[in-house]
Amino acid sequence: MSINPGATETLKILFASSEIYPLIKTGGLADVAGSLPTALRSMGDDVRLIMPAYGDAVAKAGKLKLVAKLGLIGGSVTLLQGCMPDTGVPLWLVDTPTFFDRPGNPYLNADGKPWADNAERFALFARAVLTVAQNRSGLNWKPEIIHCNDWQTGLIPALLYRQSKRPATVFTIHNLAYQGLFPYETFISLHLPASLWSYEALEFHRQLAFIKGGLAFADQISAVSPNYANEIQTAEYGNGLDGLLKYRRNDLTGIINGIDTETWNPATDPNLSQPYDANSLQDKALNKTALQRLMQLPQDSQAMLIGSIGRLVHQKGIDLLLQALPRLIEMPVQLVILGSGDPHYEDALREWLIKHPQQISVKAGYDEALAHQIEAAADVFLMPSRFEPCGLNQMYSLRYGTLPVVRMTGGLADTVIDTTPESLSAGTATGFCFHETESQSMLSALSRAIELYQDKDTWRILQQRGMGQDFSWKQSAQQYRELYQGLLRKYF
Ligand code: ADP
Repeated sequence: MSINPGATETLKILFASSEIYPLIKTGGLADVAGSLPTALRSMGDDVRLIMPAYGDAVAKAGKLKLVAKLGLIGGSVTLLQGCMPDTGVPLWLVDTPTFFDRPGNPYLNADGKPWADNAERFALFARAVLTVAQNRSGLNWKPEIIHCNDWQTGLIPALLYRQSKRPATVFTIHNLAYQGLFPYETFISLHLPASLWSYEALEFHRQLAFIKGGLAFADQISAVSPNYANEIQTAEYGNGLDGLLKYRRNDLTGIINGIDTETWNPATDPNLSQPYDANSLQDKALNKTALQRLMQLPQDSQAMLIGSIGRLVHQKGIDLLLQALPRLIEMPVQLVILGSGDPHYEDALREWLIKHPQQISVKAGYDEALAHQIEAAADVFLMPSRFEPCGLNQMYSLRYGTLPVVRMTGGLADTVIDTTPESLSAGTATGFCFHETESQSMLSALSRAIELYQDKDTWRILQQRGMGQDFSWKQSAQQYRELYQGLLRKYF
């Protein structure tokens, strides 16, 4: 391999993602793709982003220049070159209007069903990225590392694997539950190399699994928290891929996501009616009153306000919350829920809202400003996730002096320390954790929170401890850097 990483401190990294905040976002992947390259760039690295040219993203990307036209298996694409708004990180958008110029969600149609041609869309994207990565698109730039993310980019390491003079490949698992599964016929119609149809490659129980391209072929795999990296090697969390991940355990590491500490800063957050910091926590109460007013809840400062934001899907344990509601409304609490997802969860929550408007408030949909207001206003933030690769909201909560109540899984277990007599006296407690995927287990954690909520002095100590923690990207970006460097030293 011709690359000599020792020759320079600056790493050349191509970061491929199917979503990047603020251009387009459905979840935490977009946040990572928006933040990590920026952090690496501030450390001196030459990082460039590549993503499909969704119509909405093109509209937000500002000035774009057509820099290449490529004829590839599966179609023709043009490459649009620009920069990320605000951060200036160089950006390429892979433009194939028939595939990507569709409004709304990048993966789902208006009925919430996956686009019927998702395999063709992301296979073509992968082939375009590969062409850029091998410096065959006339851009006169070649990365040392190509960092792929989730199943949409899974074919890249697989297709690159046998190519000479290729960059090192990193594949990050943001959520193992989404695997990019398609029938065998799709494997054929995509004209993938026949050698890739094996259980050691892309085949997964007679289906084509895009994610296996990353898991089987990337030089290095990472997961978005150390605990999730361990969990996915077990049958309980491995989604059928635990055997492969265990096999690759020496190449698998966990790095916790950072958060955008500028966007999520209670002292400067423009969405709040009253900004505050760890020394002016009395001002946090004003945000609680404002949210109660906005969400038409009684302006009761004594009721413990529970916030919840996220996708309303099985993963997030919404059913645990629904099961717990009959007991929960007998407690001195109010509940504000913001989310969108499975219609039956939305309907069930709406029914509760109609029955108990004094305690429950629900906003269906995606609302960034309201998400900030809830983080600032709530006393506790509830995340009863069945699994949670990293989770961002618990870190936002800690930063906003809102104590997280979380199930001990994935990144939640890495970032929240349960309040026990021991952790209280050791000065480490930051929230409330429970173990079982059961509403009773969640309710007892909430009961512990309600009890401690009466002890305002201890509560404030916990708030301030959380607010003092460093969740910035700096540390995580440094760990990714070390991972890249280690990889280049080891193999290239
Ligand atoms: P996931 O990626 O599994 O959805 P994460 O916690 O990693 O979960 O990231 C979710 C991100 O999306 C967070 O920044 C969260 O605040 C945001 N989010 C999710 N649902 C909504 C919503 N309905 N309105 C506003 N923000 C939301």
